[in-house]
Amino acid sequence: MTNQEDPNKLLMCNRYKPAIRVVHAALQRTDEHTYYKSVCPVCGQGTLLFARDQKTFDLLPDDRCVLCAQHFVYTDIDRLRAAEKGDQDGDQTSRTVDQTAPVDS
Ligand SMILES: [Zn+2]
Repeated sequence: MTNQEDPNKLLMCNRYKPAIRVVHAALQRTDEHTYYKSVCPVCGQGTLLFARDQKTFDLLPDDRCVLCAQHFVYTDIDRLRAAEKGDQDGDQTSRTVDQTAPVDS
């Protein structure tokens, strides 16, 4: 479904619409080389850039289309964050302290 409307009509047109909950993994990427940028499922022409926290660089669940300004909330944000951090459960090297017995004098 390609939307061929004039981009000028779409500019900021959804800025006051309520947020839409979406699954980021199900959205269409803008090109095959990006993991994060998605095509806006509402206007079909804008891009969702996926914002990060300025301090922690964590991915943020709230995003807005750069064109129509539709607000989206990613429902799979926890999974995306975990994947980015290389969630490796139970793969921590256990530190076994080798305690040598005191030498008899
Ligand atoms: Zn849009």
